[in-house]
Amino acid sequence: MNIEQISLFAENKPGRIWEGSPMAADAIDYPDVSAPDYMPVEQLRYLQLRRLQATVIRTWQQVGLFRSRMDERGLKPQDIRSLDDIEKLPFATKSDLRDTYPFGLFASPMKDVVRLHASSGTTGKPIVVSYTKDDVDMWTSVLVRCLAGCGLHRGDIVQIAFGYGLFTGGLGYHYGAEALGAAVIPASGGNAARQIMLMKDFGVTAVCCTPTYFLHLIDRAAEMGVDLKELPLRVGFFGAEPWTESMRKHIEDRSNLEAFDLYGLSEIIGPGVGCECRQHDGLHIIEDHFYPEIVDPDTGKTLPDGVEGELVFTTLSKQAMPMIRYRTRDITAILLGQCACGRTMRRIRRIGRRSDDMLILRGVNVFPSQIEAALLEIEGTLPHYQIILTREQGLDQMEVQVEVTPQMFNDKIVALKGLHSKLQAALDHVLGIRVQVSLVEMRSLERSEGKAKRVIDRRTQ
Ligand SMILES: [Zn+2]
Repeated sequence: MNIEQISLFAENKPGRIWEGSPMAADAIDYPDVSAPDYMPVEQLRYLQLRRLQATVIRTWQQVGLFRSRMDERGLKPQDIRSLDDIEKLPFATKSDLRDTYPFGLFASPMKDVVRLHASSGTTGKPIVVSYTKDDVDMWTSVLVRCLAGCGLHRGDIVQIAFGYGLFTGGLGYHYGAEALGAAVIPASGGNAARQIMLMKDFGVTAVCCTPTYFLHLIDRAAEMGVDLKELPLRVGFFGAEPWTESMRKHIEDRSNLEAFDLYGLSEIIGPGVGCECRQHDGLHIIEDHFYPEIVDPDTGKTLPDGVEGELVFTTLSKQAMPMIRYRTRDITAILLGQCACGRTMRRIRRIGRRSDDMLILRGVNVFPSQIEAALLEIEGTLPHYQIILTREQGLDQMEVQVEVTPQMFNDKIVALKGLHSKLQAALDHVLGIRVQVSLVEMRSLERSEGKAKRVIDRRTQ
């Protein structure tokens, strides 16, 4: 393709086809678009390259920051001739979104934008993301593929307990589940008692929320005398924060549902960037729309499949706000080999940690997920914990507060002491440093309506 043809291609809009929303040009080249998840790899790579080239042109033409970074590197859109050439392109980061607040990275005029979302940052201004009508349709189509791949279908009753509003969670799932033909209950977050009531009275078969919030619902249901195992719950989609296999087991043991990890982030589209299939062997990335790379988090050098590093995404079909080489801060690896389900979309290992979640305690790197995994291995604890960092006489201290089951608290003090030393030994072993362990009663730690607040850092106070 020469540059004019690529430009023309860039103007093509993805069709409104739930089965994969190919760009019109591709539909002509490849009429077999009914099952994009199973597209032959060679065909997929060709599609990715063409979409990448179109995205680079569009972004170069419309987004000043991207164009100036290309200029600094002496790069032109036509220098992207193969998928490997993606390494030449500059990275984008969350601070780019903040620095250009609110609309600086938009590649579409506002008359073409039909939706805005924003995510609240911990500091200062939120980041803003935008969607054209075609972007919303594409988002819907990728969610349909994720949800359908996990067995959700027409007739399911889906309770969406992700927050609706500026956050992408609620509306993202909503459009996908509805397009699939399921009955959607837009419960949004909060009010656990009402959530349980809806689940019970409406015969809910599927839930979508953060894993932490579902833990809260499990506890609340128990208090209300509702046995989640007796409800028709069948599938659960959990995301928006890292969670462990032990957490999955805890959820599944108490609810009879099959728990799926669904990945997404607002900067790329929202939920639906990738999802587990029923093999539960990593998350398939919807690669025809989101191109994954793994890079060394320190040097930015691209790493081969199979090696752990930072996940980076390039959107391949988004119009209003294309993202080129966006650094997610999530640490994972692209899994080698094909999944037993037959999908050709590459998989990433479940996200265990984020590069910015890392705590440095007395020179040792500590990740909250390591602590969670260790705690959940031990009988008598609940998956509610909090990490409190303090500084005493110039030395960093960490206290891990863990809720224990009511039975444990009613038992003899000897049992509690035994549990305490077991936890202490497990954490010493996993972390390699001494931390303080405190056992607390069930429900004494603050519950989260969304993402859990696991770490309280009082070191600067
Ligand atoms: Zn699979």
